[in-house]
Amino acid sequence: MLKTKLLDIKNIFQHSRSFQAAWEECQSTLKALFDVDQLVLFKRDPKQTELFFQIERNAGVEEMRVPFSFSSVAGFTALSQAPLMLQNLDPRELAAVHPDLRFDRGLDKLLGLEIINILSMPVHHENALMGVFQLINKKSGKFTRQDEAYCRLIVGIMGQKLFEEFDLPQGPFDHLVSKGFLTQEQLDDALSRAAQRGVFVSRVLRADFNLDPDAIGASLERFYQTPFVRYENNPVSDQMLKGINRQYLIRNMWLPLHTGAGKAVVLVQDPHDADTVNEIRRVVNAKSYEFRVGLPEDILAFLGDSSQLPKSVSPGGGGWSTGAEEGEPEDLTEELDDGDDLSASLAELATAAEEGLEFTQDEEEDISLESRQVAVRFVNKVIMHAHRVGASDIHIEPNRVGKPGLVRMRIDGTCERVLSIPESVIKPVTSRIKIMSRLDISEKRLPQDGKLRVRFKGREIEMRVATLPTVYGESVVMRMLSAGKVMPFSRLNLSARNAEQIERIMVKPHGIFLVVGTTGSGKTTTLHSILSRINTPDKKIWTVEDPVEITQQGLQQVQVENAIGLDFARIMRSFLRADPDVILVGEMRDLETAQIGVEASLTGHLVFTTLHTNSAAETVTRLLDMGIESLNFAEALQGILAQRLVKTLCVSCRAAHEVTDEEWDYLVSQYGSEYFPELGIERSGARTFKPVGCRRCSHTGYRGRTGIHELLVTTPEIRKAIMRKQPAEDIERLAVEQGMRTLYQDGIAKIFQGDIDTWQLQKVTVSD
Ligand SMILES: [Zn+2]
Repeated sequence: MLKTKLLDIKNIFQHSRSFQAAWEECQSTLKALFDVDQLVLFKRDPKQTELFFQIERNAGVEEMRVPFSFSSVAGFTALSQAPLMLQNLDPRELAAVHPDLRFDRGLDKLLGLEIINILSMPVHHENALMGVFQLINKKSGKFTRQDEAYCRLIVGIMGQKLFEEFDLPQGPFDHLVSKGFLTQEQLDDALSRAAQRGVFVSRVLRADFNLDPDAIGASLERFYQTPFVRYENNPVSDQMLKGINRQYLIRNMWLPLHTGAGKAVVLVQDPHDADTVNEIRRVVNAKSYEFRVGLPEDILAFLGDSSQLPKSVSPGGGGWSTGAEEGEPEDLTEELDDGDDLSASLAELATAAEEGLEFTQDEEEDISLESRQVAVRFVNKVIMHAHRVGASDIHIEPNRVGKPGLVRMRIDGTCERVLSIPESVIKPVTSRIKIMSRLDISEKRLPQDGKLRVRFKGREIEMRVATLPTVYGESVVMRMLSAGKVMPFSRLNLSARNAEQIERIMVKPHGIFLVVGTTGSGKTTTLHSILSRINTPDKKIWTVEDPVEITQQGLQQVQVENAIGLDFARIMRSFLRADPDVILVGEMRDLETAQIGVEASLTGHLVFTTLHTNSAAETVTRLLDMGIESLNFAEALQGILAQRLVKTLCVSCRAAHEVTDEEWDYLVSQYGSEYFPELGIERSGARTFKPVGCRRCSHTGYRGRTGIHELLVTTPEIRKAIMRKQPAEDIERLAVEQGMRTLYQDGIAKIFQGDIDTWQLQKVTVSD
């Protein structure tokens, strides 16, 4: 009996088109099975260490969000990743679990009932947390161990389905490929047919590939995480349009489905399109808004134009564009010019900026339509340009009255002037960026922070946006977050000795390993690269970072929130109760964090962390000066990697040249003549490289950066030196005798490899 019910549930989850559909179908069965009032599922927000729970209420969806923290039972379940059974929720019972644990009564309100007891269970897939499932109010009294056992089976089934949806698709139609409705080639074909004919992609999919609108809708639903509504011969009446001009809606491709009770439900073709969403908020008067996604031809049909619905015959060209201007403004791919040509793209930028000259500066808040369009194109081009040249930050800077503003970009760590923009364009450009980042455009006197996402060539680019009021107007800085990917270990450019030693350390069961360097020396990149090598299902890896910049599936990453007292030390103490194998601590910022880190590494955990110091040896003395106990630290330390990033020569244009006698003598003596032979470089035929400059590197001769490293490995002698608190120079000398090569030596080896030149090496090593 019970077994059949469980099998039913499993079947429903396996065969439903979405988690949501299965969840709704199983509700009553699950409630009966466990004899409870309510079921709650908190899903994990893929972008944050946060859970959210949504519930359909009256006219709309209400949402509750909780961080991975002690402030709620769900958040605690996510943090501890263990089931939790609370029979009466009184303070004593909560305190017995953990002194800081609270129960968030917001859930009572949302569910509209008084919560008396709760069984809270983490939902996993493989080792990754997908969410938290909760049974609310056991009708017959108390939850039992048997409830817990059945619940484990249920969350196992749910985890798989949630995982499928957690790994979000790149494009709105990708799910059709993963579901097997289309091959990738067919989808590509459909996309290019739609572009050629200037018709909607969905229309081509329906007409040429015979796909059912519901299948396409399910794909959109997955991608946009928004419910799909299809057209079924039910055009809307004028009355339903609430006096909004039909032609306007047809042009803008959206319509209100329901309005009333302060809430508006609006059908759009792209719920991610911030411009449209903002415009809807201006046009439709409501307290809250909910969005539904529809196929563009369906939206037109709702509005009375069914000409775009596919007929049985394959359609010819339609009048509708799928281009960036009208169809999907957030997808910048269409605006891509054909090449990698930097100067052409710069010229284009300049032209786009010039166009703005035609428009007089608005004194009013609202900016004329034309100048808005110029701003849209300009911002798109700036973002594409930044993406193409690999800039990490974009700066839009106002200037004195009557003076042009500036666009600058940080490329390979250096801020470079890209072009000046007319004064009249700055304001619309700033407004456009604020709209895209969902900031308050009317607020110009206070700093604001937001995020902006665009799609470009099928890839999503995410940017963190900060606006700051200067005396000349608002200044904008956008930081590219798309670089937040894990770098393969092999691309760190570690010397053979360093790579081999680090590979030996990373598989140790316990100990502490530090990556140190100045700000922007790539410490986080290196640590995540190392973690990715040991990120296997049999290891539990917790990270605490401020902020989380690189995410990896399989890691449990917690972000520091100082505002609510969630600091490094506090999170680390929680980790120790959360059964870790490996812990990454973003930075050993204070003595307490450092002490907990050392303690953790002495009690069977492998701890990775960073420190802002100049050299490996100096790190030891810094930690001892902070107050770390030298015996413990000497015992715990496995190794210290110091690093810097050096600009690399552009491989497209660098020029090899024979090393002169003078240069040879200099480099050999700098490396140390007693060690130089180990590089295996012969005097005859030795060559190094010089920068030249070409279009690919903006005529600078340099493109990209690479790491130079020095790795101190704890040997018995080093351990002794640490215990005796010997000075940094002694430790460094000893380490070099035992095989460590300094940053500078490693840099010289990389000069001979052709990666860098002496000038760039001097720049990063001398400035210390
Ligand atoms: Zn070049």
